[in-house]
Amino acid sequence: MMKLTFHGAAREVTGVNYLLEDSTTKLLIDCGLFQGAKTAEEKNRDPFPYNPLEIDVLFVTHAHLDHIGRIPKLVRAGFKGRIISTLPTRDLAELSLTDSLGILTKEAERDGEKPIYEEKDVQRAMSLWETVEYDSEITVNDLKVTFKEAGHILGSAMVEIKRGDKRVVFTGDLGNPPTPLLKDPHKLENANYLIMESTYGDKEHEGRDERKTKVERIIEDTIKNKGVLMIPAFSIERTQELLFELNDLAENGRIPRVPIFLDSPLAIKATAIYKKHEDYYNKEAKYIIESGDDVFKFPGLEFSLTTEESKKINNVPPPKIIIAGSGMSTGGRIIHHEKRYLPDSNSALLLVGFQSAGSLGRRIQEGAKWVKILGEDIPVKAGVIRIKGYSAHPDTNWLLDFVKGSSERLEKVFVAQGEMKAASFIAQRIRDYLGVKAVVPKQGDSFELDM
Ligand SMILES: [Zn+2]
Repeated sequence: MMKLTFHGAAREVTGVNYLLEDSTTKLLIDCGLFQGAKTAEEKNRDPFPYNPLEIDVLFVTHAHLDHIGRIPKLVRAGFKGRIISTLPTRDLAELSLTDSLGILTKEAERDGEKPIYEEKDVQRAMSLWETVEYDSEITVNDLKVTFKEAGHILGSAMVEIKRGDKRVVFTGDLGNPPTPLLKDPHKLENANYLIMESTYGDKEHEGRDERKTKVERIIEDTIKNKGVLMIPAFSIERTQELLFELNDLAENGRIPRVPIFLDSPLAIKATAIYKKHEDYYNKEAKYIIESGDDVFKFPGLEFSLTTEESKKINNVPPPKIIIAGSGMSTGGRIIHHEKRYLPDSNSALLLVGFQSAGSLGRRIQEGAKWVKILGEDIPVKAGVIRIKGYSAHPDTNWLLDFVKGSSERLEKVFVAQGEMKAASFIAQRIRDYLGVKAVVPKQGDSFELDM
């Protein structure tokens, strides 16, 4: 018997942290930040509800902060075990954790608190970090662990843990295939237990072709209106996918030449890591690169690394396109552009990612006419356009199909990493259509796994 406990991402998307244990082994899957909601910072400061010293191994599914953001805090709290992920995840995690230091420190100072970790904790975490290839087996006591392609961001993986012929699979975040750069998620086979993400468990996505055509049209409209197109984008994956598609549109003359600014040091550095790990791309992307195209370089594209370069964007007359973080407009350079251009009815804001409850992005998405940015009330007169096809997570139909791959064998599905509405919707469908037990655990819930 093993015991599985949900210490995060239960009935919410963020804060992923699962404990799988028996009398001899204690494993963690992910150790992420809670993000978005008002209570998030408090929850991030709470002590871990288990003893970090007793954990043998932390498996990391991918490098998004809601999966890795509390790892340095775990190390600070005494964790001395192994940290294991794929190589791109390790590289992206180091970048992301270092990058978020500044924001964490600032937030903590504002609240008169100590930051949840410091630079030395990041360094110590990196020194415990080992990497593994997809599909190769790691042994931890009597358990065999394998990382499988999850197709969500570069290096993202599902973690399969096996004892004898019993398997439990943690999906981490899953991709929304086909994607421009990544391979499709591995199919689910022979799983007895599944811990599944459900970000879009109650939604249906639009097609891929549609999304590129939509972007093309939005860019054309913005140019015609002499406006500014702002795209808040997650620095890892979404930005690289956007660049990849803009590269195609620009080089094939489907959009007129306008200045396109990538205004995010994090996204620029993440793009360099993507370039370093091209061997993890899918066949089609590799083919384009091998034929000599630099997919992150095209006429009009400029990288704004420094604050000075970022400020210069203001002096460039519209039309122009600005891609900047953060993806939910909770901070970063995008909010400065939003403050400047949201009051402009010729400009537009393009939302390509999930906007978590409580975030500025979510308020704009839901049609707020006024928003508070950097302490000022700002009218929203710019167009707000949402393209769901860019989602880095699969929709309800894909998820159902994914579970079906193992429905004969599945004893129970735990639906997590989704808001209550999304999680319970897909859980109900799994019960109704596949006849498989599916539950939506609460924070702190434990379950016995017969393995
Ligand atoms: Zn993710």
